[in-house]
Amino acid sequence: MTVKNKIIVWFISILVIVFSLAFFTIYSLSSSFLKENLKKSLSQTVEKNVDEIEYYFILSGEDENIYNQYIEYDGGFLEIDDDFLNTVDGITIGLYEKNGNLIYGENPLGEHLVKKGFSNAILQTITVEGEKHYVFDRKLDGIGVDGLWLRGTVPEETALSGLKSVSKIALIILCIIVEISAVIGIIIAEKILKPVKKITQAAIQIGSSKNLKQRINLGEGKDEFKTLANHFDKMVDRLDDAFEAEKRFTSDASHELRTPVAVISAQCEYALESPKETEEYIEALEVISRQSKKMSSLINDMLSLSRFEHKKGNYEFCNFDFSLCISELCEDLALVESKNITLYTDVEKNIQINGEKELLERLASNLIMNAYKYGKENGVINVSLSKKGEKIFLSVSDDGIGISEVDLPRVFDRFYCVDKSRNNAGTGLGLSMALEIARLHGGDITVESTLGKGSTFTFII
Ligand code: ADP
Repeated sequence: MTVKNKIIVWFISILVIVFSLAFFTIYSLSSSFLKENLKKSLSQTVEKNVDEIEYYFILSGEDENIYNQYIEYDGGFLEIDDDFLNTVDGITIGLYEKNGNLIYGENPLGEHLVKKGFSNAILQTITVEGEKHYVFDRKLDGIGVDGLWLRGTVPEETALSGLKSVSKIALIILCIIVEISAVIGIIIAEKILKPVKKITQAAIQIGSSKNLKQRINLGEGKDEFKTLANHFDKMVDRLDDAFEAEKRFTSDASHELRTPVAVISAQCEYALESPKETEEYIEALEVISRQSKKMSSLINDMLSLSRFEHKKGNYEFCNFDFSLCISELCEDLALVESKNITLYTDVEKNIQINGEKELLERLASNLIMNAYKYGKENGVINVSLSKKGEKIFLSVSDDGIGISEVDLPRVFDRFYCVDKSRNNAGTGLGLSMALEIARLHGGDITVESTLGKGSTFTFII
């Protein structure tokens, strides 16, 4: 069953239960109230009629009232006042002898009522043909009326007949209310679940067509579905970025590898084409060797980058002495014999850092090795490490070839090399990886450079 149908079924069931409970509570309260009223009215009517009966031994003209009833009884006369109520509001009253003989009034239940023994001022019940009746007796006392009984009867149905017709109307109204509420419930459920439908459709489209450009776009808002949809969109954004980056990387990598492979292949063909002079073979082999080294370092860099990407979330950071780490690294790199460059260090002592030592070493060595690579003959490199407030600054300056204003914003892009034609042109992956390491540690790398004068790269964390 769909969530929408479940909501509707629950909604209607609860509605029916609540309405039914309300209906039956009201019905039973009202019916017991009406029954009590009927019993009260029965006893009051009987009690009232007690005073309407008098006995006369002799009836003189003065006593006679044309409106009253006179019944010969026991050698005298029973005077039934004109106020005597035979039947009122469904209540029937009769005047009986103690043997059950009806003298005056009405007996609606015939034999059944006669058989029921009299019981003074006590409410009794009698069931005739499945219908319940209340019976109330009152024994008359006084001269001439001793042994007479007033008996009132009323069917219980009298109290409930009005209630039953009201209940029928109420039930019809209830059914209509339930139906209208059900329709409203369906509309509301559909409206509430509309975003879920959109989310599902988007997920299906992404899943089936692998179209990561698909978004739900429910707009900003605080309701749960909008929050879910926005998180979903953000997740797809990240996936899309990751896939795009992966695609770009694969295409860039194959493009970068294609050149050395093509050069090696061309040099081999050239060497094998026809017999050559030794110098020509040497030259071809030198080109092949250079391109192989380039391919090898490209593959190494790509592997490091890929390992870094995979492990990104799992590096364990710890506190270590960054000053010591940089000093030792500079001591080692100062041994690099390249272009007669001198490496100077200015390292503030005891700077502690929280991070992954190997990665931060790689970052620093990338910057220093670039300074060597792009430094000038007999030049200098200055490495300084300092702490200002909470921030740590590691800067590497050289007085080498520098970078033009046009190239400066792109030096951190993957595979970007300012001058690919240079013999010592690298892979273009060093700085992009250094920047990613910096960002993983919550830091950044800035660069200032003047073409022909030198560059300063600063890692700030
Ligand atoms: P690679 O050095 O392997 O080419 P990087 O990502 O380390 O790759 O550097 C990207 C580009 O930035 C380099 O090709 C180079 O042109 C430029 N670059 C990097 N460091 C320096 C520097 N210290 N001086 C001048 N140019 C630099």
